[in-house]
Amino acid sequence: MIFIVDSDNDVINKEVVSLNYDISYPFFSNDDIDNYISGYLNYDSYIDGNVIIDYDIYDNDNLYYLTFYKYFWNDNMVSDGSDSFVIDTSNNSVSRINKTNYEYDVVINRKIDKSKRMIALTFDDGPNYNTSKIIDVLNKYDIKATFFVLGSRAINNKDILKKMADSGMEIGNHTYNHLLLTKYDENKIRSEIEDTSEVIYSATKKRPKLLRPSYGSVNNKIKKVANMPIIIWDIDTLDWKYHNSKRITSRVVNKVRDGDIILMHDIYSASLNALSNIIPILQDNGYEFVTIDELFYYKGISLENGKVYGYAR
Ligand code: ZN
Repeated sequence: MIFIVDSDNDVINKEVVSLNYDISYPFFSNDDIDNYISGYLNYDSYIDGNVIIDYDIYDNDNLYYLTFYKYFWNDNMVSDGSDSFVIDTSNNSVSRINKTNYEYDVVINRKIDKSKRMIALTFDDGPNYNTSKIIDVLNKYDIKATFFVLGSRAINNKDILKKMADSGMEIGNHTYNHLLLTKYDENKIRSEIEDTSEVIYSATKKRPKLLRPSYGSVNNKIKKVANMPIIIWDIDTLDWKYHNSKRITSRVVNKVRDGDIILMHDIYSASLNALSNIIPILQDNGYEFVTIDELFYYKGISLENGKVYGYAR
């Protein structure tokens, strides 16, 4: 195993501070490899303007594939694609490979087959530089999903919210600042929710009907103030933790059941890559991808304000 891991088997991320930028990436136990990667991050990734880097890793036999996605952020979001490294653990060598590019093509017409098994993909914590690509993949397969957005991010990305709404995605409320709301009083909880609903309304002219409190944490105060059904999940893809598209994919494919609500994050490249794998596999296995609203509607369950739902069965 080439990654340094702690007792919970978590990948340890190393922080590189490159000029004004903090870059997080997997830390390698081999110095030669670590120096090679950190050299790339320190020197290659510098340009004027804001650079954001995230990554996707996966393993295949003795090989680890590590891809960095670089986003240069100015007035408008621009991405220059990605750089990949192959790390061979049999001889501790590392090499850089060609850029990869996304290509998305045809749109298929949407039809919901009520007799099929159904799942709802949900995406939290956006919108950010990656969200628009997630919407493009969903549109490519004519799939609808639900995005629980943060007010603090939505306010600066109203065009992405508009694209979500125009693409028929459901938009839910994920609070404004992603606080652990159980530690706050009712007034603060109320403003975190209402300020977010306002931003969503101003971008889409629709008020969100669903709440997902940050961290999925709920207490009686939150239930009382919510004024909406509270939607959590029953499959956590752990995309936020591992940034590993292969792992995210197998976790979903191995665990999925009819009526599941799946937690992903639209803000990571690894989640985007996993999504492109998950959709065709589960479609072949007979699943329909629906919004939260559709899921409960087709399962004959009516959602009640202040009540918590983690699946529809
Ligand atoms: Zn969140």
